[in-house]
Amino acid sequence: MSFADLHLHTHFSDGTFSPEEVVARGQRVGFAALALTDHDTVEGCSRMAIACAEANIEFITGAELTAEHAGNEIHILGYFLDQHNQRLLTELARFQSVRQNRIREMVARLNELAIPLQAEEVFALANCQSPGRPHVARALVQAGHCASHDEAFERFLKKNRPAWVPKAKMSALDAVELIHQAGGLAVMAHPGLNRTDEIIPDLVAAGLDGIECFHTKHSTSASERYLMIADKHKLLVTGGSDCHGKSKGKPLIGTIKLPYTHVEKMHAARQKRLAAN
Ligand code: AMP
Ligand code: ZN
Ligand code: FE
Ligand code: FE
Repeated sequence: MSFADLHLHTHFSDGTFSPEEVVARGQRVGFAALALTDHDTVEGCSRMAIACAEANIEFITGAELTAEHAGNEIHILGYFLDQHNQRLLTELARFQSVRQNRIREMVARLNELAIPLQAEEVFALANCQSPGRPHVARALVQAGHCASHDEAFERFLKKNRPAWVPKAKMSALDAVELIHQAGGLAVMAHPGLNRTDEIIPDLVAAGLDGIECFHTKHSTSASERYLMIADKHKLLVTGGSDCHGKSKGKPLIGTIKLPYTHVEKMHAARQKRLAAN
């Protein structure tokens, strides 16, 4: 049977692998299709597309948009995006600059706590347009201020900890529309981590195409629950490992194997959307 991993990160956001490393590992597992879903960026997609073509793996251009609805942070995955779509690129650039300013603010708070870190150190380490808290955590570990990534989150970076800074996010309904106008399909990421199922009908009304039922952090019962919700709302079913490379122990790629039949259904849904546009 063929299978896919539709949720992967690289060093173009907070993953540690290059697109080529992700593809090499995906090839070892035997994936027929891979999607790159870096946070608020499509920068890694060109390289990943080339690496997939060389490995004879189908590549799906994607991104994981940080969004909010009714006060909850949720992540919306976009698939089959036109990575040259001007509106998409303008919006992503806006949220990337929000992320960069947030790093400066987090560093300023750390400085107030007598931690002598510099924003430039974090940017140098992140080396990407879409830096986030994991890069601050790595910088804290590298400079010897924390023993581990987890300690950095526990002491400083977790929600309501002293260096935590809330992030301006796009509205989830706008994110769905942004993805559609860029030729993509919009999928709610890891709903089991958010526990905000009550917002699903609003997203469906806005045109949500699918729901990520299979995710490394979903229990079997959570996956079953979201399969039922997908069925009820006639949504596509997706899944992926959310592998961030080696940043959190053993790489997760290979832990979720989405049957390829779901990708076929995504192709059909995409054709339908393109025909309607
Ligand atoms: P950001 O987008 O900058 O808010 O960073 C979010 C990322 O930080 C997530 O994708 C997780 O990988 C990581 N993260 C969030 N909370 C924690 C935590 N408590 N411990 C370790 N990593 C975390
Ligand atoms: Zn991440
Ligand atoms: Fe996410
Ligand atoms: Fe993710």
